[in-house]
Amino acid sequence: MILRCEICFADIGTFQPETVRAPLDGSMFAPLAPGYPKPFDAKAGFLELLCPYCGKRAVGNDDADPETCHPGGMLTPDGPFKAGSAATARPNKLKKKGKRKNAYA
Ligand SMILES: [Zn+2]
Repeated sequence: MILRCEICFADIGTFQPETVRAPLDGSMFAPLAPGYPKPFDAKAGFLELLCPYCGKRAVGNDDADPETCHPGGMLTPDGPFKAGSAATARPNKLKKKGKRKNAYA
């Protein structure tokens, strides 16, 4: 899926809608096409996801309130996209895997 800057509406990168999670970081985004640079440094945190064109934060902005941010919010050519949270990404099955044995049994 294409990532579009929420501020200047330039297409700046791509992401996998199935795997991207909030809070977003630079490692979740790939170049727009082969030969293009990555849109963000892989180590960039959510607040450092700055648009290579306009220099503003490209994701997670709130239309109405500049003081509010959405750690999973993005814009695509098809409209807004919200990344799942880490909690919803983890199936319940994984929690049981680490079940401890009762030492007194
Ligand atoms: Zn921009």
